[in-house]
Amino acid sequence: MRVLVVGSGGREHALVEAIAASHLEPEVYAAPGNPGIARVAETVDIPADDLVALRDFAAGRRIDLTVVGPEVPLIGGIRECFEEAGLRVFGPSRAAARIEGSKVFAKEVMRHAGVPTARFEVFDREYRALDYLRSREAEFPIVVKADGAAAGKGVTVARDRAEAESAVRAAFGGKFGKAGERIVIEEYLEGREASVFVITDGHEMLPFLPAQDYKRIYDGDEGPNTGGMGAYSPLMWMRPETYGAILEEIVRPTLHQLALIGTPYTGLLYAGVIVTSSGPKALEFNCRFGDPETQVILPRMRSDLLELLLAAEEGNVSGREISWSSDKAVCVVLASEGYPESYSTGDEISGLSELPSGVYVYHAGTEERDGRFYTAGGRVLNVVGTGSTIIEARARAYAGVEAIHFRGMQYRTDIALEAIELEDF
Ligand code: ATP
Repeated sequence: MRVLVVGSGGREHALVEAIAASHLEPEVYAAPGNPGIARVAETVDIPADDLVALRDFAAGRRIDLTVVGPEVPLIGGIRECFEEAGLRVFGPSRAAARIEGSKVFAKEVMRHAGVPTARFEVFDREYRALDYLRSREAEFPIVVKADGAAAGKGVTVARDRAEAESAVRAAFGGKFGKAGERIVIEEYLEGREASVFVITDGHEMLPFLPAQDYKRIYDGDEGPNTGGMGAYSPLMWMRPETYGAILEEIVRPTLHQLALIGTPYTGLLYAGVIVTSSGPKALEFNCRFGDPETQVILPRMRSDLLELLLAAEEGNVSGREISWSSDKAVCVVLASEGYPESYSTGDEISGLSELPSGVYVYHAGTEERDGRFYTAGGRVLNVVGTGSTIIEARARAYAGVEAIHFRGMQYRTDIALEAIELEDF
C-alpha cells in the first residue's frame, strides 16, 4: 500500500507518523513535506497546490490513497482532479469543501439543517452592510467575516460600530481579494471554543475526542490571530452530553443536509464550536484536519488511522469506533520572530536532539542543511507533551520548549493553563 500525504506543516508531520505506524505497513510519501517528515516518509518537491503535478506523481507511483492536509487543494478540487485519473483521495469534493471555502454557503447549509449558530445576514454591497450596521438590528460587539477562506485573517470581532465599519470597508476595498466580495455579519457569541473532528463517508461518522486551540499570538488571547499557537486534548470542561449535542445537533444535521443537496461530504469534517450558556453553537466548518489540534489528537489515538481513512473513502464507516489512550496531550507552537506579520528565517535551531522523554516534536517551518536545522517559516516547531494528567503533559511540553532554542523564538506560556484548574484529580 502506498500513501501520499499532501502538505508541509506540523499537522502533516503528525499525519505521516500515524499513517506510517499502520499495521498495513504503507510506503509513505509527502509533498512537499518538511525535514521532520523526511525522517519517516519520502518527500517529493511538489507544492501542495500544484494539483496536476501531484496527480501525475500519484499516477506514476501508483499511490493507493492520497491524504490532503491543507484546505487550498481541497477547495481547488484535488479530489475530482485525482478521480479523473482513477486515483483515490481522502478528503471532500470541491462542492462539499465549500463548507469551508464559503462562509455564506456554510451558513445557508446550517440554516436549512436547523443547526444552532449565530444569527447572520449576508451582504454583497458595501452600502447595504453599512446601513445594516447603523440600523437598530445591529448589536455590538458584532462579527464581520469575508465569505471566502482568508487563512484566518478574514474574521473581525468588532467591539463597536466604527470597528465593524472599517472591517466592512476593508473587505469591499479588496483586502481579501475575491474572498471579500461578499461578507457575513453575525451575532457575537460568548463561551468556550472547541474543535470537533469526525471522519465520515458522507452518511455515518466516526467522532474524534475534542480539542482546544489557541489562535492569538500572545498570552491571555491578546494580539493578532495566527494559524494556531497551541492546543490540548481532551477537554475536561466539556460534559459528555454537550459533546453528544455537538455531534447530534451540529455535525450530523450538517452532513445530512450536504448529502440532501447532492454534495455528500467524505473525509474529515472539522466543526469549530462555541459552548454558550444556551448550549453549543457552530462557529465554522473546515474541510480538513485542524492544525495544531491534530498534533494533540493523533498521539492519543490507539486505532489504526490509515484503516479509518480507507474505510471512509470506501463508504464503510458504519459500526467502527475509534479507541483512545487515557493520556492527555498539550502542544506548544514555537514561532519565528515577527510572526504572524513578516518574520525572520534562516536561524539555526538547537536542542532538537536532547529532548526529555514523553516529548514529541513535529516540524512545520524548518529546513535541514548539512545535518543542522534552521527556521524556514512562521510557525517552526510543535512541541507536544503527553502524560496521565494535563499537568504532567503540560510540564513535559514546556520542558521540551526549554530545551529548544533559536533566535527570536516566540511561544505562548499559557497553553492548557486553564485546563489545569479544571482537571479532575
Ligand atoms: P478565515 O476564513 O479567515 O480562515 P476562520 O475560518 O479561522 O477564518 P472563524 O473560525 O469563523 O474564521 O473565526 C475565527 C475566530 O473568530 C473564531 O475562532 C472565534 O474566536 C471568532 N469568532 C468567529 N465567529 C464568532 C462569533 N459569532 N462570536 C464570537 N466569536 C467569533
